[in-house]
Amino acid sequence: MRVLITGGAGFIGSHLAEAYLDKGDEVYIIDNLSTGSLDNIAHLKEKGSYQKRLFVQVDSILNRDAMLELIGTCEVVHHLAAAVGVEYILDKPMESITTNIQGTEVVLELCNKFKKRVLLASTSEVYGKHTHAPLVETDNIIYGPSSKFRWSYAASKLMDEFMALAYYRTTGLQVTIARLFNTVGPRQTGAYGMVIPRLVRQALKNEPLTVYGDGQQTRTFTDVKDVVWAFMRLAENESSCGQVYNIGGLEEVSILELAQRIISLCNSGSEIQLIPYDKAFGKDFEDMQRRVPGIEKIESLIGFSPKIDLHAILARVIDYMRKHNK
Ligand code: UDP
Repeated sequence: MRVLITGGAGFIGSHLAEAYLDKGDEVYIIDNLSTGSLDNIAHLKEKGSYQKRLFVQVDSILNRDAMLELIGTCEVVHHLAAAVGVEYILDKPMESITTNIQGTEVVLELCNKFKKRVLLASTSEVYGKHTHAPLVETDNIIYGPSSKFRWSYAASKLMDEFMALAYYRTTGLQVTIARLFNTVGPRQTGAYGMVIPRLVRQALKNEPLTVYGDGQQTRTFTDVKDVVWAFMRLAENESSCGQVYNIGGLEEVSILELAQRIISLCNSGSEIQLIPYDKAFGKDFEDMQRRVPGIEKIESLIGFSPKIDLHAILARVIDYMRKHNK
């Protein structure tokens, strides 16, 4: 099978590419390297048996001609190319909206034209600022005002979901939407705000761990291996078309507790430094206080249940960062 992964040189995309190559498929990647990197797929290009089955194009998904050819060639499309990371969004607000909305428009329009199967990576961010748990796919969505730019990411991904569902309803496009809850694993960079690689790097260097706010905000982390497994099963499953699925872990943890666990697992002498949100992001920032997925829907469809718990996730990331001197 020929699989196209937009954003395939990114953290999640590169793991997905590897899993399809392991299975014997041909993998086509398009990535503009905005947050992705060719380093993420260098090990795949070096592997003899993969070389002939891996095709990498450094380009933007906004390049319709390039996308026309790629989507025309492939049977399945995993659309992961997006502006991600809170810091990236705040830093490049216009570019983020354009990539997320116009880019997805191109992908969906061409998948519809060629009648190709497509999986759209969305985010738990679309739920907005709920404090209840768990969040289920039918929950209402609550955002802050447009002056708080964080919500532009949620709104742009929500618009992607609307476009996908509109195609499904009007033309029968075979599209499935996956909402990811804080995916973590080897190769993720802390450069755009992602908390685990960032705190692990600080702990390994015996620097203070930067915990924003009072650290009582919670998240539920998911290992990239579990996410890849779910993406591949969803793409194979026709009854997932026109549906939205949460993909997430099981253990809710506060960021303060996370920092303490990282210090202990790294045997680090670091201290924890609480940094007010306005110092970290400016006065117009608003965080999500709680984010826990309900996963019954995906569990009953494909038997998804995360195999890698938070302890193992942290151990994997620490091991990777130690080995690669990150
Ligand atoms: N965070 C933190 N210190 C950091 C980076 C992030 O305390 O150096 C917090 C952030 O404010 C949020 C949580 O960790 O409450 C998760 O942040 P991340 O950017 O990883 O993902 P988000 O869930 O915000 O998309």
